[in-house]
Amino acid sequence: MEYSCGEEFDVIVVGAGIMGSSTAYQLAKRGQNTLLLEQFDFLHHCGSSHGESRTLRATYRQDYYGTMVLESSQLWEKAENEIGFKVYFKGHHFDMGPVDDRSLSAIISSCGKNSIPYRVLNHREVAEQFSGRIDIPDNWIGVRTELGGIIKPTKAVSMFQTLAIQNGAVLRDHMEVKNIVKDKDKGGIWVFTVNGEKFWAKKCVVTAGAWTSRLIKKFSGIELPIEPLETMVCYWRIKEGKEKEFTLGGGFPTFASYGEPRVYGTPAFEFPGLIKIAVHGGQLCDPDNRPWGPGVSLSLVKEWIGRTLMGQVDCERPVATQLCMYSVTPDEDFVIDFVGGEFGKDVVVGGGFSGHGFKMGPVVGRILADLALEGEAKGVELKHFGIRRFEDSPGGNVKDFGDELGNLKLN
Ligand SMILES: Cc1cc2nc3c(=O)[nH]c(=O)nc-3n(C[C@H](O)[C@H](O)[C@H](O)COP(=O)(O)OP(=O)(O)OC[C@H]3O[C@@H](n4cnc5c(N)ncnc54)[C@H](O)[C@@H]3O)c2cc1C
Repeated sequence: MEYSCGEEFDVIVVGAGIMGSSTAYQLAKRGQNTLLLEQFDFLHHCGSSHGESRTLRATYRQDYYGTMVLESSQLWEKAENEIGFKVYFKGHHFDMGPVDDRSLSAIISSCGKNSIPYRVLNHREVAEQFSGRIDIPDNWIGVRTELGGIIKPTKAVSMFQTLAIQNGAVLRDHMEVKNIVKDKDKGGIWVFTVNGEKFWAKKCVVTAGAWTSRLIKKFSGIELPIEPLETMVCYWRIKEGKEKEFTLGGGFPTFASYGEPRVYGTPAFEFPGLIKIAVHGGQLCDPDNRPWGPGVSLSLVKEWIGRTLMGQVDCERPVATQLCMYSVTPDEDFVIDFVGGEFGKDVVVGGGFSGHGFKMGPVVGRILADLALEGEAKGVELKHFGIRRFEDSPGGNVKDFGDELGNLKLN
């Protein structure tokens, strides 16, 4: 294929998952001559942004994510209006766990601070609300919020890539970036690929998912503790005759369960009659030499399904599974910052989305584009996402939820 574009760009984005694709869209829409480079095929299944469903929820333990979710949900709808099809299907969200669980208390407090409407339900109210579908123990509570729903990941990445192209961006796959070098004479940076091509740009944004630490270390020397985990999504069969009751239309929520096991799921949507229920966590992996299974132990989640979904879902075994990667920081907070050092504000990184970044794709794209173009991002507090926060404190941001620091690494 011939490429008519020259070798010089305003901004080069490295990595075409949800973060890179939404950033490329934001940049191109603002009139920037943008190049998006991807090491594999576009829409491949080897990173974090592929598959059939992601949860959108506003219930965060940390206050600083609330406003980001609210902005992101608006930006999802804006992009849908531009492309002309839907990728985000609204529903409500339900968190549950022991009454003294510190994560749930933090969620309730953060909803209050961010003016996110919520309702705390006791055992009896949960039974009334989800009659015959969700049962929690007497000493548990549930938190119901209206802002929830399902995002279609592969379709959403494809949407942003299409919008980026429509706005003039150049997208190239099978282009593995091997180095990023500052041009000390001319200014700006050079991006070199494994297949021998090179491109110049004023700015560069690195959104390399599970490969972020490796790439950042290579060109800047910075050691970022972002760990790739292989995780597994499971689909379970809903008992015959009950299928509609577990759909968005039937009023079933996206959900998360705190305590042990830490479970999340989405209503039946992508595969009729099957509900997605998975364990939040995974096994450490090398993104270039993946184990591709066998996945995490399912014994606790099977018990959880049997107990919580009131025998309406067959918990003997999942009928389908899919593998995916998380890229996890020690504090599960994102890294959104300038690389600094000799690169100053010319190279921006967005990584470490720790298994909860997809919903934030549009707002992260907006922020990364702001940082690249303006040198700052308005309307968002980025101090928790600093690239150097691990230098003095290997655990990163201090948390007190009782289940932080490595709880996502499962056997
Ligand atoms: C099973 C699962 C369930 C999840 N559920 C949710 C959820 O319900 N809600 C939610 O909000 N989030 C969820 N997440 C998290 C969310 O999907 C991720 O945070 C998000 O997809 C991360 O996107 P990314 O663009 O950073 O990474 P990726 O999608 O991995 O994109 C990075 C891209 O960079 C490319 N790349 C890497 N190195 C190079 C290089 N050197 N040169 C060129 N290209 C390169 C990679 O090939 C890849 O395409 C889930 C994740 C998984 C795996």
